[in-house]
Amino acid sequence: MPDVSQGLLIILSAPSGAGKTSLVRALLQDATLGLSLSVSTTTRAPRPGEANGREYFFCSESEFKQEVSKGRFLEWAEVHGNFYGTSSEAISEGLEQGGRIVLEIDWQGARQVRSKFPPQQILSIFIEPPSLSELERRLRARGQDSEAVISARLLAAEEELSHAKEFDHVIMNQEFSKALRDLSDVIRQRISQSIQSV
Ligand code: 5GP
Repeated sequence: MPDVSQGLLIILSAPSGAGKTSLVRALLQDATLGLSLSVSTTTRAPRPGEANGREYFFCSESEFKQEVSKGRFLEWAEVHGNFYGTSSEAISEGLEQGGRIVLEIDWQGARQVRSKFPPQQILSIFIEPPSLSELERRLRARGQDSEAVISARLLAAEEELSHAKEFDHVIMNQEFSKALRDLSDVIRQRISQSIQSV
């Protein structure tokens, strides 16, 4: 287990298209929460508008596998045919500074992180879409992915949804501002508990 005594890891997982990224963006803008975002490494190709080091660190499969073999990832997983991983070093450094770090990772990664830290250092939240048909509508409206990718993501969404019960909280994103309020409340509650227990 990494030697970190402070800080909080906030795991946010959701099926693709559930609105997680917009919610995270809004959470990060709320200075009263004091959150920072962990930037993952991925072998997925950048989408239009994505920049290396901002949304992700983009790399080749062989570079990714080298990092895995050197033990550089706190967690990693294959999601939708691409590899994604969270840098161990960045997380240890952030926690040592008492950071509250948001990890946007899938259920497989969430499991790995949970197994490496004490429960009081982790808050895991699953964001649910109102329904699979709404999810499909959102994925199409986003216009970023091909039909084949959308179909694969819908299948993966069913799998992802079946793991919601492993999380501390499940928040439904039916209406953005309500979901954001629910998320902020849960995070604020945990922050105040951690402060009281110090
Ligand atoms: P996207 O390619 O749409 O940005 O992300 C696809 C999926 O990969 C999402 O479910 C996202 O949460 C997951 N993901 C992104 N970064 C990581 C990571 O570092 N580790 C794991 N396990 N999953 C990740």
